[in-house]
Amino acid sequence: MEKTNLAMRRRVVLVPAPAQGHITPMMQLAKALHLKGFSITVAQTKFNYLNPSTDLSDFQFVTIPGTLPESEFNNLGPGRFMVKLAKECHVSFKELLGQLLVSEEEEIACVIYDEFMYFVEPAVTEFKLRNVILSTTSASAFVCRFVVCKLYAKDGLAQLKGSGREEELVPELDPIRYKDLPVSVFASVEYSVELFKNTCYKGTASSVIINTVRCLDMSSLEWLQEELEIPVYPIGPLHMAVTAPPTSLLEENESCIEWLNKQRSSSVIYISLGSINSMESKEALEMASGLVSSNQNFLWVIRPGSIRGSEMSEEELFSKMVTLDRGYIVKWAPQKQVLAHYAVGAFWSHCGWNSILESLGEGVPMICRPFAADQKGNARYLECVWKVGIQVEGELERGAVERAVKRLMIGEEGVEMKRRALSLKEKLKASVLAEGSSHNSLDDFINTL
Ligand code: UDP
Repeated sequence: MEKTNLAMRRRVVLVPAPAQGHITPMMQLAKALHLKGFSITVAQTKFNYLNPSTDLSDFQFVTIPGTLPESEFNNLGPGRFMVKLAKECHVSFKELLGQLLVSEEEEIACVIYDEFMYFVEPAVTEFKLRNVILSTTSASAFVCRFVVCKLYAKDGLAQLKGSGREEELVPELDPIRYKDLPVSVFASVEYSVELFKNTCYKGTASSVIINTVRCLDMSSLEWLQEELEIPVYPIGPLHMAVTAPPTSLLEENESCIEWLNKQRSSSVIYISLGSINSMESKEALEMASGLVSSNQNFLWVIRPGSIRGSEMSEEELFSKMVTLDRGYIVKWAPQKQVLAHYAVGAFWSHCGWNSILESLGEGVPMICRPFAADQKGNARYLECVWKVGIQVEGELERGAVERAVKRLMIGEEGVEMKRRALSLKEKLKASVLAEGSSHNSLDDFINTL
């Protein structure tokens, strides 16, 4: 009997990229597929290894041998690290997949790999399995990566670096300006291009799944569909489609929820720069000063190591920054719970794609302070297309911080942005319910397996 069931079940192998913003949506997808009856194997690198919780005990976790140490991530930065990781892992992944094929009783329906784990593709092709790409960024970010590669192929660095055209719109990419393209401080332009060429290479992939929604990303989805010539399935926001298993790499400090419980409705601005970015201590002090003079309450995530260039420990810096009782600081927050809290009125964000989906999924408007990668493009969409965000550009100084916070928290503009964010929340909710666009898209994808 057991054997018959096993023969009927099929397994999906998932390969997340080793970063918080990539692991979480991959595990949400794993959960969604598991609910549809698939067995799940997750192949992880040793770097940023997610320790499976009891909620994930139905999944099989395997390790890709030969990954790079954390020091390499700190030395190289995320972009160059991913390029090196791919070179390091492509052989060991093939061996691992070969072992899985021998030991597994169930048929492998497909291998779904994060777009940044592109070294997976040749191994899957060699074993004649089905390849599927998961993009954990927006469709417009995917398009921008394509455009960077095309601009580089045409003119080399001419349009990408120091061209003096930074403020101009990139043709056909409105509202993206040259300076919003994801050639980033994480890596040199050349490294970015090398990485993007690989992430845009579909190889033998049969389809691309994207953690996005038609109502946010329609024109970019159409662009991608035409360019890639394989089905593109927008199935997000995944965190709204399934009850997520815990996937946090850092310990969440729940005490901030108790603090939020004591605050008035929509009176708190939540601040987080995501899992990778860091800021100069000078900027952190300007920010603290602007927040205090805005007279608004704030909950601020300051990850260990996320403030650079200070002799002081983060604790000492905190005590210097927060002299009033209107602020609360944690090292890592239960972000989705925070954004769902009635006391939170706005989100000061680096504009990572997960943070955007989580914020809009709760109808929370944003202050955008992007750093690198896809974040600048995301900020443009928030401000110019969906009109639910205010971008703070240029040098970060206390006056600009105070003005942005007041505009969103107490200004009339803020009321309008809140209204639009709530309307998007309803659209996002509807997309993952039965007959919603993302719900149908996930079903369509599963039917292909
Ligand atoms: N996050 C969290 N607690 C925090 C800060 C962030 O749980 O204190 C989570 C957040 O909910 C999101 C992820 O970390 O799911 C960050 O992903 P995102 O794409 O926004 O940014 P990245 O870290 O990849 O730059």
